[in-house]
Amino acid sequence: MLIDEISEELRAIVGENWVITDPRAIDPYLFDKTEPYIRPQPIKEVIVVKPGSIDEISKVMKLAFASSIPVFPRGGGTGLTGGAIPTRSGIVLSLERLNRVNIDKNNMIAEVEAGATLRKLIEEAEKNDLYFPPHPGDEGAQIGGLIACNAGGSRALRHGTMRNSVLGLQIVLPNGRLVTIGGKALKNNMGTNFSHLFIGSEGSLGIIVKAYVKLYPKPRFSATLLFPFSSPNDAIEAAMELLWNGYVPLSLELVDATSMRKTADYLGLPWKYGTGEVYLMILLAEPNQEMLYAEIEGISSILSRRTSGEPILTERREEQDEILKIRSEIYSAYEKNLFEGLDVSLPLGEIRNFLEMLNRIGEKYGVKFPIVAHLGDGTFHPDILLDSKEKDVLVKVREEIYESAISLGGSITGEHGIGYTRRVYAEKYLDEGLKELMRNIKKAIDEKGIMNPDKFIP
Ligand SMILES: Cc1cc2nc3c(=O)[nH]c(=O)nc-3n(C[C@H](O)[C@H](O)[C@H](O)COP(=O)(O)OP(=O)(O)OC[C@H]3O[C@@H](n4cnc5c(N)ncnc54)[C@H](O)[C@@H]3O)c2cc1C
Repeated sequence: MLIDEISEELRAIVGENWVITDPRAIDPYLFDKTEPYIRPQPIKEVIVVKPGSIDEISKVMKLAFASSIPVFPRGGGTGLTGGAIPTRSGIVLSLERLNRVNIDKNNMIAEVEAGATLRKLIEEAEKNDLYFPPHPGDEGAQIGGLIACNAGGSRALRHGTMRNSVLGLQIVLPNGRLVTIGGKALKNNMGTNFSHLFIGSEGSLGIIVKAYVKLYPKPRFSATLLFPFSSPNDAIEAAMELLWNGYVPLSLELVDATSMRKTADYLGLPWKYGTGEVYLMILLAEPNQEMLYAEIEGISSILSRRTSGEPILTERREEQDEILKIRSEIYSAYEKNLFEGLDVSLPLGEIRNFLEMLNRIGEKYGVKFPIVAHLGDGTFHPDILLDSKEKDVLVKVREEIYESAISLGGSITGEHGIGYTRRVYAEKYLDEGLKELMRNIKKAIDEKGIMNPDKFIP
């Protein structure tokens, strides 16, 4: 095998211990968090390489380029579309050893190596009284992976997706060349800003090795509000009124009561947060108490006109953490019975129409969807549960949900990306001109097609 022939050269670059060829040690690198029913079959004839520096990554890429060997960049392996799963014989390039975080407090910036986990970045920022707002659900994700997927999460409403947090990037191109784009300055018009080409490119154009990301002073005062409603439509109308009145909370989530209670149960926690069919869950974070209270008052006066019961309002840290934990673990609570977790995104004004379409799809196929949405930014997570249905039926359900989102001017993915599992739908729904551009840019940067083949590019 070609990769066996280069294993000695790889060892010479990264050191004996960091080239993995034992099948048992390779196994954890063959999967990500994509549901077993939809993920690709991994190719086991791979070598896992764990470089310890940017220079080593550059040398590994030069070697792979010279031998035309496919390279599969791997971050925290929390992806949900099979993006990090090797689909050809080649190198799985794990960034895990490149995990340094340097907090530049003075400039309110973190200089982060790609393999640092989100958890580590959050902890290091907090030690300096700073905070990194983007928070996709799994803190084991790495900064490189988050940037490669342009990850979102519930706080995207106020702070945007990863794209909005990245000021500078260092990338190793497929031929091994290191490129630096941007840096620490908030504004930078010197040269073409190609960073947005790489952000969200899912490992198809190069290896992200380092990033400069924006940090913010840690908000000193926070509150979590749970408003119960008797129907999703009431909750959506109330949320839209909030947005129309100019309120931009840290996050504005829609969750059904069944999912919250089920997850509390799964975590062994009592549910002590009231009754209702669905909840608007609102997170607030402000630099002073006056601002926080003014926000709570304004929001409550708008929402209380439509709620179905007493809202829960808590400023106690432990209670806020508990509610957030329950919300964050909904995915895990359903995981065993999950065919596929979707992440369609909608224009805000179409959310109600989407929900109606979702109900019709549910009735047609006899399935029920948990209602879980980052409502404030229009991202819906209609989890397709197994519920003893045939795979063909579940695929039809997925396709009708995609069709609905597209017909309303939305997208089949607002967060998890295309990866392997959505490539066929990217082919179907992407604009012809855009597909051509994507292929041409891929060819220009990755002329031998070695970067994460079979993924992302339609
Ligand atoms: C419980 C749970 C909750 C989640 N919640 C959210 C959410 O709210 N919002 C959201 O957006 N996502 C969410 N995700 C999905 C996932 O966490 C994100 O897609 C994340 O960005 C993946 O990062 P990772 O480091 O795990 O990447 P991996 O899974 O390792 O890789 C993902 C892709 O990025 C590429 N890649 C990884 N590192 C690099 C690098 N350094 N350079 C170039 N390419 C690279 C890989 O090749 C692959 O294509 C969730 C996942 C789970 C399991």
